[in-house]
Amino acid sequence: MKRDNKSYILIVFAVIFVLLFLHFGIFNERAESFEADSGSRPVMGTFARVIVIAADERVAEACIEAAFEWIYKIDELMSYHNPDSEISRLNRSAFENPVKVGSLTYQVIKKGIEFGRLTDGAFDVTIGPLVDLWRRCADANTIPTQQQLQEAGSRVGWDKLSLEDGEQTVQFAVDGMQLDLGGIAKGFAIDKAIEVIKESGGLGALVDIGGDIRCYGKTPKGQKYWLIGLQNPDLESEKQILFTLKLSAGAVATSGDYQRFVLIGGRHYSHIINQKTGSSAEGLSGVTIITDSATDADALATAVSVMGAEKGIELIEKSTNAEAIMVSPAPEYKITETSGAEKFIK
Ligand code: AMP
Ligand code: MG
Repeated sequence: MKRDNKSYILIVFAVIFVLLFLHFGIFNERAESFEADSGSRPVMGTFARVIVIAADERVAEACIEAAFEWIYKIDELMSYHNPDSEISRLNRSAFENPVKVGSLTYQVIKKGIEFGRLTDGAFDVTIGPLVDLWRRCADANTIPTQQQLQEAGSRVGWDKLSLEDGEQTVQFAVDGMQLDLGGIAKGFAIDKAIEVIKESGGLGALVDIGGDIRCYGKTPKGQKYWLIGLQNPDLESEKQILFTLKLSAGAVATSGDYQRFVLIGGRHYSHIINQKTGSSAEGLSGVTIITDSATDADALATAVSVMGAEKGIELIEKSTNAEAIMVSPAPEYKITETSGAEKFIK
């Protein structure tokens, strides 16, 4: 009799358990979540796309709009080309006086300096004068002279910036210096967008700005992973996607000379400049970094483009939680990976 009672109680508990599971959507996970896709929207000189998985349509849409609010805001603050941005205002007067900036811009400048130090100047947020020179030369269809490179180069150097944390001011040591956050701002905007999606109730999301991506949580259609295609730098190859990456959560950033470049005398020059020589980065055709933060991935991808495969691998192997996939220039397009990259390749 005692035994029968026990079995009865167990059965009742088992039934309650199954009902609870069904109710909270463990078995019908897909039916209980909604997927929203922003489609491509122009921003930061490229396109951004946000995909959100949430409990219902209203939450998913709200997450997308909150994410774009951040992306537009960061673009407005940090754009090099918008004369009204905080960075342009700083660039106009930071030699004469220390210029106070908002905490977001200050944070990105500080991160940029950190990467300047870490990469021995391969990443340099003061690269502006050299980028401008290459752009002007591209317009005139000439390559820069040694003298021009020297003159612009004398106005470049992250160690020529003075920051003051209390007031959050920035000052230039040399007249004509120009901050350019183009190598890191996309990643920062992605991280902020992910943060606000999490706060707004997103169960999972992917934020893509110009091919730099971060994702987390629940995936579309209950897939096991978020899948991210890496474009083949060899644009003539039939294989448009070089690799498909699989991630549960993390960031992926790619820098390459095949999407954005300047054209002089019919030759492509990368839009990434080596601060030490003033020349455009030639060593790699594409660099993809996989790590936790999109800000770090973005800065490291730009830096490794300058450092080249050998030094780049060394740096990334040393970093905890970062992997790299690099493609050498045409015509070889040789692929080099760090030791842990394989686990992300589908
Ligand atoms: P990305 O596409 O992230 O590699 O960033 C490229 C952009 O970063 C360029 O268009 C420049 O605005 C800027 N940039 C170019 N060279 C460097 C460099 N050595 N360090 C930091 N930013 C750079
Ligand atoms: Mg970058």
